[in-house]
Amino acid sequence: MSEHTKTNDAQQPAEQESCRACGTNITPDSKTYPFCSPRCRGADLLGWFDGRYKISRDVKDSDLDALD
Ligand SMILES: [Zn+2]
Repeated sequence: MSEHTKTNDAQQPAEQESCRACGTNITPDSKTYPFCSPRCRGADLLGWFDGRYKISRDVKDSDLDALD
């Protein structure tokens, strides 16, 4: 059996540390990692709810409230 096809649950390769929203270089110890700023982190969340990413269930208003 070969295990060289081991998969990673992460959706993005870990080799490049850049903001997932705008691509700005960041450091892994950033408070807002993996984003360069809270603004980009928020933008990415909006992307989730905008259907840019696949989600396993419908998003309800109560879910949005729970984010804060
Ligand atoms: Zn950014």
